[in-house]
Amino acid sequence: MAACRGVASSVFFSPDGERGRARARREANARQICEDCPVLAQCRDHALTADEPYGIWGGMTEADRRRHARRTRTGERR
Ligand code: SF4
Repeated sequence: MAACRGVASSVFFSPDGERGRARARREANARQICEDCPVLAQCRDHALTADEPYGIWGGMTEADRRRHARRTRTGERR
């Protein structure tokens, strides 16, 4: 079962105008929930495949997915 089941969606999706420390705090909370999720890999794959523009999916933020997409496009490796 997904670890985020029953958790408010506001933990995974940013409210309008959120930035700075509030955003970092919320994202850290969401990532912590994802860390122990038994379906993390599937969730992450879905978000990357569907090019989900918003929210934390599989422990990845919107910025993480954008970086990942850029790397994939350019063939960059880490
Ligand atoms: S990995 Fe996906 S399904 Fe699991 S807690 Fe995170 S957002 Fe929810």
